[in-house]
Amino acid sequence: MKQKMMNRMDEEQINAGLMRFLDASPNAYYAVRNMCEMLTEAGFEELREEAPWKLKKGGSYYVTRNGSALISFRIPEDEIAGYQIMASHSDSPSFKIKPNAEIDACGNYTVLNTEKYGGMLCGTWFDRPLSAAGRVAVETEQGVEMRLVNLDQDLLIIPSLAIHMNREANDGYKFNAQKDLLPLSGELASKGAFMKLVAEAAGTTPEKILDTDLFLYNRMPAARIGTEGEFIASGRLDDLQCAYASLLGIMQAKPAKSLAVQCVFDNEEVGSMTKQGAAATFLRDTLRRINIVLGRSEEEILRSPSSSFMVSADNAHAVHPNYPEKADPTNRPAMNKGIVIKYSANQKYTTDAAAGAVFRRICDQAAVPYQTFANRSDMLGGSTLGNISQSQLSLNTVDIGLPQLAMHSSYELAGAKDTAWLAAAAVQLFSSSVRADGAQLILE
Ligand code: ZN
Repeated sequence: MKQKMMNRMDEEQINAGLMRFLDASPNAYYAVRNMCEMLTEAGFEELREEAPWKLKKGGSYYVTRNGSALISFRIPEDEIAGYQIMASHSDSPSFKIKPNAEIDACGNYTVLNTEKYGGMLCGTWFDRPLSAAGRVAVETEQGVEMRLVNLDQDLLIIPSLAIHMNREANDGYKFNAQKDLLPLSGELASKGAFMKLVAEAAGTTPEKILDTDLFLYNRMPAARIGTEGEFIASGRLDDLQCAYASLLGIMQAKPAKSLAVQCVFDNEEVGSMTKQGAAATFLRDTLRRINIVLGRSEEEILRSPSSSFMVSADNAHAVHPNYPEKADPTNRPAMNKGIVIKYSANQKYTTDAAAGAVFRRICDQAAVPYQTFANRSDMLGGSTLGNISQSQLSLNTVDIGLPQLAMHSSYELAGAKDTAWLAAAAVQLFSSSVRADGAQLILE
């Protein structure tokens, strides 16, 4: 009960922080940089994968890969009992700007050549101010330097075709990514200006830019919606809402028996098969390295995963007010009703009875409500991080998320109560440990 009251008091502060984080994180590079800044401020020490590590018992650290994936951790004061992990992802569906992007359009305009990154709802990208952000490789006297750039202005737009020229537009339309979805960047005379803006933002000239990873983003800032402000609308709630809650969790966690680990992977929206994705060796290598530096034996390292627990946190579908028939008859979560535990018989979600029970107890201990999700049996669902990361590191895992609507829209919708609950559950997860006893899991 005490915890519940604390959550309610923190809620407004957490939502304000979340909305600032969403606005300041137009893509994975910025999300990771912003999280690193918050971790540094909270006393976590930065480690580099390429440099030797010195770790202290009781210490707090973080390491990044590719500038777009992050692992932060807190080392127990005593022997490591196991790992308590919460994983989420930093990327969201968007459009990536191709090389040689500026195209002449009908002798009058310049449009940018882009391609889809992930599976977005295309219609939500039309007729609104867009901008571009990401990173560029800049040639300098000292070699090639990677710099983040955010053009941070109302700059681009993908105009719809008028209803008069497509009378069937309201009856369903199939978008062609090479034809329908290219953003207008200016008149033809302004060709070259886009790369000049990018170079300016990077503090260089266009000739010095060797390569780019630039993505579009919706300029609409995060907003409170509803007569009582019950909801939060923003781009990238999937999955920055979970990433932010897990960050608050690890920053607030008390020293515990287990190694507390927060990881945020990139490239979930395109299958996770990159060096910074959930299918990479990043988590396995980092955990192994922590053990080696702390002088643990090979056998101790091999024993640890069985007495460990991972929460794969990726947003979930809430029941939609206009489409209740799309939800499962008995597992239909709603926004502002708590954390969603996801189930799938074909193990697209890793949750099983043993892991589900542990997570329900963690929520109970944190006085956090939870609900359950399963796809309708006649509908295919999405997949997420949990089962993909198993191929590198096999752990007791539960798949969860926060309930939201409009998933993969450029402007999504979630509950204003749920982030604080996930943060409280994360604190509880990181402060506890899970011990294996054969096929049983004991929460301590
Ligand atoms: Zn997601």
